[in-house]
Amino acid sequence: MATHGTVGKGAMKFCPNCQDVVETRVMEEFNENVQVAGLHAKRRKVICGIDRDGTKGCGHTWFTLDVIETDLKLKLGIQD
Ligand SMILES: [Zn+2]
Repeated sequence: MATHGTVGKGAMKFCPNCQDVVETRVMEEFNENVQVAGLHAKRRKVICGIDRDGTKGCGHTWFTLDVIETDLKLKLGIQD
């Protein structure tokens, strides 16, 4: 059963456990702005499923980093 916090809007994301693009939710209390390798990023905790219990998904949780594409490509030396 859900304990605390809320889940954000749903999104289709790649689940590393299912190895597929599935319906996921963001666990809002873990949203934070961080610096990764000198880049600004938004860190989120994601759960596979449609609620905090992982209903209709595998329940696996993982973290994602949302970075600005141009910043990351510059950092890694990737050309478009
Ligand atoms: Zn999954």
